[in-house]
Amino acid sequence: PTGAIVRGLEKLRGQTPKRTVHALTDVSLEVARGEVLGIVGESGCGKSTLGRIVAGIYAPSDGAVTLDGAPVARESRGTVDKLTTRVQMIHQDPFASLNPRMKVGETIAEGPRQHGLIPAPDLRDRVAALLSQVGLEPAYADRLPHQFSGGQRQRIAIARALAMQPDLLVLDEAVASLDVSIQAQVLNLFLDLRRDLDLTALFISHDLSVVRHVSDRVAIMYLGRVVELAPVAPLYDAPQHPYTQALFASVPRLGEGRARFHPIKGEIPSPLDPPPGCAFHPRCPFAGPRCRTEVPRLKPHDSRAVACHLHDGGTGATTGTSEAA
Ligand code: SF4
Ligand code: MG
Repeated sequence: PTGAIVRGLEKLRGQTPKRTVHALTDVSLEVARGEVLGIVGESGCGKSTLGRIVAGIYAPSDGAVTLDGAPVARESRGTVDKLTTRVQMIHQDPFASLNPRMKVGETIAEGPRQHGLIPAPDLRDRVAALLSQVGLEPAYADRLPHQFSGGQRQRIAIARALAMQPDLLVLDEAVASLDVSIQAQVLNLFLDLRRDLDLTALFISHDLSVVRHVSDRVAIMYLGRVVELAPVAPLYDAPQHPYTQALFASVPRLGEGRARFHPIKGEIPSPLDPPPGCAFHPRCPFAGPRCRTEVPRLKPHDSRAVACHLHDGGTGATTGTSEAA
C-alpha cells in the first residue's frame, strides 16, 4: 500500500513540559500518495496530537502509523529513525521553529546534511534552488530569520521541510498566524508545490475555508474522534454529521459580517471526561436516548463516512435500545 495509513490510534491525554496532549480515540485514516487530507476541528479536538503522532513526534498509546507499508518510528533520544525524516511537519509559528541565530541557508541545509541526503558540495546550490522554489531570492540564504516577514518565514519553513524530500508533509495551522492576504499567497504556493512535486499531506486547520482551498478530502474531528470524512465537494455542499453542520453554520457567510456569527451552542466538554455515548450529544439538536449511551462508529456512506446514529441506516437516534441487544 502506498501513502500514509493511520490505524486505530489512541492517545491518552497528558501534559508534556510544553503543551497539553489531547486524547484520540480510535482514529483510522488513509492518505493516498499525492493526496491532501484536511483535518478540521475546534481547539482541543486532538487534531494537533494526531499530526504529531503521524510525524513521529509523539508515540500513540495504541495503534500504528505506516508509510508505504513501513511503520513511522518515533524519534528516540539521540538518534532519529530514518523513517521519521520521511515525514516533515510545518508548524503555525515559523519564527519559533527557526533558529534565530542561524542563517536561513544553514537552517535549510542542516537536515539534509545530517542525514546525508545531499552531497556536501551540492548543498549550496540545492538551498538556492529551494529558496527560489518557495518564491524567495537565493541570496537570502545568508540572512537571519528576523530579517524576514511572517509569510517569508513560513516559506523558509516550507523550504526546510522540502529539503528533506519528505514522503508526507504534516501542516499544523500553517497559515493561521498570517494576515489573510499573506495566507492566500502561502496557500497558493502550497498548491503550486503540490502540483509540481506531487506532495502528500495532512493539512490541519480550524479554518474550513482554508482547508477547502487545498484539500481533496476532509476529516472532521470532535473530542478526539473523526466524526465525518468526505471528499471536499460533497462535504461542503451537504455536511451530514450534526457537528459538521453546526461547524459550517457557525462560519459567517460572505457579506453577513460579524453580527451573523452563530457559535455552536454549549461548551466543548473536557476531552479528559467526554460525555458517554456520542460525545456531541449535549450540544446536538437531534440527540435521542440512544445517543446518550452508545458511541456511534464511523460508517461508510457512498464516498463519505459518518459517525452518527442518524446515519447508520438502522433505527436512528430515537430508540433507546441497542440494535445488538
Ligand atoms: Fe447527534 Fe446522536 Fe448523531 Fe451524536 S449520534 S451527532 S447526538 S444524532
Ligand atoms: Mg492545535
